[in-house]
Amino acid sequence: MFGTERSNSQGYNLSVAFEREPLLNSIRAFDDKQWQLKPIINGKAVDGGDKHPVLSPFDQRQVVGEVTWTCAEQALEALDVADKAWFGWNRTAVVERAACLDRMADLMEKHTDELMALCAREAGKSLQDSIDEIREAVDFCRYYAQQARQNMALPTALPGPTGESNEHYYEGRGVFLCISPWNFPLAIFMGQVVAALVAGNTVLAKPAESTSLIAGRAIEMLYEAGIPKDVLHYLPGSGATIGNALVPDNRVTGIAFTGSTETAQLINRTLAERDGALATFIAETGGQNAMIVDSTALPEQVVADVMHSAFASAGQRCSALRVLCVQDDIADRIVTLIDGALQRIEIGDPQHYSTDCGPVIDDKAKTNLTSYVERWRAAGRILAEAQLPEECAHGHFVAPVAIGISALSDLGREQFGPVLHIYRYKANELDKVIADINGTGYGLTLGIHSRNEATAAYIESRVRVGNCYVNRNQIGAVVGVQPFGGRGLSGTGPKAGGPNYLKRFATERVRTINT
Ligand code: GLU
Repeated sequence: MFGTERSNSQGYNLSVAFEREPLLNSIRAFDDKQWQLKPIINGKAVDGGDKHPVLSPFDQRQVVGEVTWTCAEQALEALDVADKAWFGWNRTAVVERAACLDRMADLMEKHTDELMALCAREAGKSLQDSIDEIREAVDFCRYYAQQARQNMALPTALPGPTGESNEHYYEGRGVFLCISPWNFPLAIFMGQVVAALVAGNTVLAKPAESTSLIAGRAIEMLYEAGIPKDVLHYLPGSGATIGNALVPDNRVTGIAFTGSTETAQLINRTLAERDGALATFIAETGGQNAMIVDSTALPEQVVADVMHSAFASAGQRCSALRVLCVQDDIADRIVTLIDGALQRIEIGDPQHYSTDCGPVIDDKAKTNLTSYVERWRAAGRILAEAQLPEECAHGHFVAPVAIGISALSDLGREQFGPVLHIYRYKANELDKVIADINGTGYGLTLGIHSRNEATAAYIESRVRVGNCYVNRNQIGAVVGVQPFGGRGLSGTGPKAGGPNYLKRFATERVRTINT
């Protein structure tokens, strides 16, 4: 009855032609499609706000579609409807809510080609990243459906005195505002929204400005999967407009946010200033993620894992490796290998199956990253750098680069792109490296490469992070396998794709009956 059997979705293997070619052919059918999305309130697409063209980050001459932004009044109207819809949705049986998530997973698998086209054309994601994105979104749906059936469908009887029945159960908190990022425009968007829904909340879904189209398609599919129209509302648009309208409103009982630490702090301050009910705040933010490599590590394996961790998805993951701390004794060898790998990395069209590194999301990101790299170039600190091919001229590309730093305090703010810092340490400086990593205040992912188990265990127990990866890459957490999330400046927890996530979206009740 509880459906405990579950496995993660299979995805596609791009290196096998008979799997790849039919997939690529069906994605090509969406090459010229123009998606048009408007805010959806109570199931109706509404006009009113400004219209924004969506251009491809790979080639700014390519139009992907158009999105109409939500104005403040519409956001409040959606809140009104969601607030009124909560009672009915919260009383809908958990198994019925969970069945909507299972149907949504099936729908996303059915529409993989369209969703992959959107991942590539709207978000600039490589085909492999797009496959992984859809798999993760599907896995979130099935995992949270299973978790809800297992832990939330029935009350738990508690022991008590004779003549009294005591039961503990979960229910929704009310209206959840879900604010998602552009770097996982489907997976994180979906993870937040379906967790909130299945736990018994109504949802105001606010996608990132740059990736509203894929989020809008996902909302349409969620309605098709059975989520009632008054329970879920799609609010694309400006974070400032929608946030200013909704975050201070006491009827918003919870906020799930993934994005920058600064925005999370702003939301936190706004919530603190409310004079009404205290809201739940779940934030997943950035990282200054390190990998510590000691002299026992295997250089070839280290470099393969560094390249993937730092440059896959053009470095646009909060889990991405930002600073490689490598013991002096093997540092020259590692830098030489990284240089070799950077000369061979394939940069370009995200829709080409051999592309390793696509564009960054927008012009602002490109300008900021480029000027950051130029400052280090002027200081003579570029250790290795890839070359951008001709086809990148019309997109937001930044050449993957490795920069030598002499202190971890040189890191400053997180650089959300294909920029790797390399710091050399001496054998007797390990404790200082650990202290400096902790000193950044972030705590998301940590990589360790060492064949000395005691060293790996020593480092793991002292670095304050959420996800620690030993002798492998440090990105691509898998739902139900590596629940993901950090601490400190990196977020509040609970971990997405883990057993405690849903519970934070719910509230607990106890019913005591004198029998
Ligand atoms: N969960 C993703 C990973 O493990 C990162 C999520 C993010 O960038 O927000 O790579």
